[in-house]
Amino acid sequence: MNYRITLAEDGIFPIVYDAQGNKLKEMPRTGYLFPGTLQGEGKLNGMPSLFIRLAGCNLRCIWSLPDGNISACDTFYASFDTNTSFVMDVDDIVATVANNTQNLNHIVITGGEPLIVKRQLRSLLEKLKDKKDYHITIETNGTIYNESIIDLVNLVSISPKLSNSVPHIDKLKMLKNTKENDIYEYHEQRRINIPTLQAIIDHCVRDNNKSFQLKFVISIKEDILEIEKDILSKLVGWKNDDILLMPLGKNKKELQQNESVVASIATEYGYRYCPRLHIALYGSGKGV
Ligand code: SF4
Repeated sequence: MNYRITLAEDGIFPIVYDAQGNKLKEMPRTGYLFPGTLQGEGKLNGMPSLFIRLAGCNLRCIWSLPDGNISACDTFYASFDTNTSFVMDVDDIVATVANNTQNLNHIVITGGEPLIVKRQLRSLLEKLKDKKDYHITIETNGTIYNESIIDLVNLVSISPKLSNSVPHIDKLKMLKNTKENDIYEYHEQRRINIPTLQAIIDHCVRDNNKSFQLKFVISIKEDILEIEKDILSKLVGWKNDDILLMPLGKNKKELQQNESVVASIATEYGYRYCPRLHIALYGSGKGV
């Protein structure tokens, strides 16, 4: 069966060839003449990789910055406002990936929230693994667990959303076509699911070929108290090496507001500091 998947605007990136092997007119936004970019976050920071970004998300993150401004989801076009998304056959996605991975072995499936389309995602993972023994990372917000999908990936990058991501009513003027109170409640009720987080960790721990990371976006120093009290103290099976603290910010200017605070928290509490390498190297645009 050849399922169809809705991809966000940047889709499969950065690429040079299409599914038929034809060279694209537009070159990658990395500025390179070849496919691939560097994974910018987490345990595989710096690893040459190809990304597949699915459209649609079950959460609605909007953070507050230290300067009082707001910072919505940095992939707004893959979560809140998906009118630039497009549909592609799984077979065409796999062919495109194959044509752009002569020298790459790492695939990152991201979103949005990829696990909201379980059947299509499972089919994509099976066909990618049939094509080549890729190392596959899946990036998820940790609200959905599916055993057969986790079976097919090598690294689960989980980014649970803290209360700092809750879109309070006064942050919602930017949202279009949504009922503001509904969005607030919807996000707040779903953002943390301890049984689901534990199921993902347990799955990775019992399978030696799999690893996981818990990546938290930090906006103020007090966020670490919530991470430890409301999340880590309720989970087992993790080590300090699995915990990453990432400064809030979708561009260099926003990151500069709190990266030194997050670096100090990581050092003090013994967790990993997680820079956003792709923003430092390529800026905050799509497709890098
Ligand atoms: S969970 Fe991730 S993709 Fe979804 S709205 Fe939040 S930051 Fe964006």
